Amino acid sequence: MTYSPKPPKPPLFSVRNLRLSFPDHAHKPLFGAAPRIEVLKGLDLDIPEGRITGIVGESGSGKSTFGRVLVRLLEPDAGEVLFDGQDISTMDENALRPLRRNLQMIFQDPMSSLNPRHKVWRIIAQPMKRYKCGGTRKDAENALEKVGLPADFADRYPHELSGGQRQRVGIARAIALQPRFILADEIVSGLDVSSQAQVLSLLQNLAREMGLTIAFISHDLSVIRHLCDEVIVLNHGEIVDCGPVEEVFSNPQSDITKSLLSAIP
Ligand code: ADP
Ligand code: MG
Repeated sequence: MTYSPKPPKPPLFSVRNLRLSFPDHAHKPLFGAAPRIEVLKGLDLDIPEGRITGIVGESGSGKSTFGRVLVRLLEPDAGEVLFDGQDISTMDENALRPLRRNLQMIFQDPMSSLNPRHKVWRIIAQPMKRYKCGGTRKDAENALEKVGLPADFADRYPHELSGGQRQRVGIARAIALQPRFILADEIVSGLDVSSQAQVLSLLQNLAREMGLTIAFISHDLSVIRHLCDEVIVLNHGEIVDCGPVEEVFSNPQSDITKSLLSAIP
């Protein structure tokens, strides 16, 4: 008899010594370059495949900046961002093109990311065409069905939708591309409590069904506790706690995590 346990899946992202700074224009001298503010100060972490990883921290701790590096909307100053084993941190746009479909993002304010002049079906179909993975009206209607919106929403414009419905369209647009990774940056922050709960359980179900890997940025630990498998706590661009949600929440190492936890009702 041979004993051959399944090897553990390699992480989808391996981040090593990730550093990023922005020019500090507020303190720019009269002559010469502005000094730089370090926003990510050498992050080391793995993001496991097929799981939901929460990224929390106070406002300004670097969550969105980190997320934007994961989907390569920002190029870091130093370090490695291995996506499925390939370092995307320094790839040029040509090399990134075949990977882009796999690195999707859902925004906090869907109104700013949904073209107000396009009907819902076109909003969903256009990126599918761009990535050559469909893009018919029927494809868009299928994606709407997956996020629980009836097919006749295809002909609406973004302003004809509620906040929760707009967020569903944002999710439909992302999942229609069948990406491997979705970054969700504060996507329920602008919604009322009942729409929040609906969007979260939708995301959780889709993640399970599709085997998606999600990085879920939020300043709200009760949302993270409800939704996520793993959590990373950032403070001033450094990781101060990380691990499975239950472990971190029952045994927080840093004062920051403790104080964030004490704010949960
Ligand atoms: P969070 O999402 O945790 O609130 P951010 O990643 O948005 O934090 O911002 C971290 C820090 O980086 C903040 O101090 C912010 O002002 C600064 N920052 C973010 N984006 C830029 C930018 N494009 N230019 C200059 N500073 C920036
Ligand atoms: Mg942010």
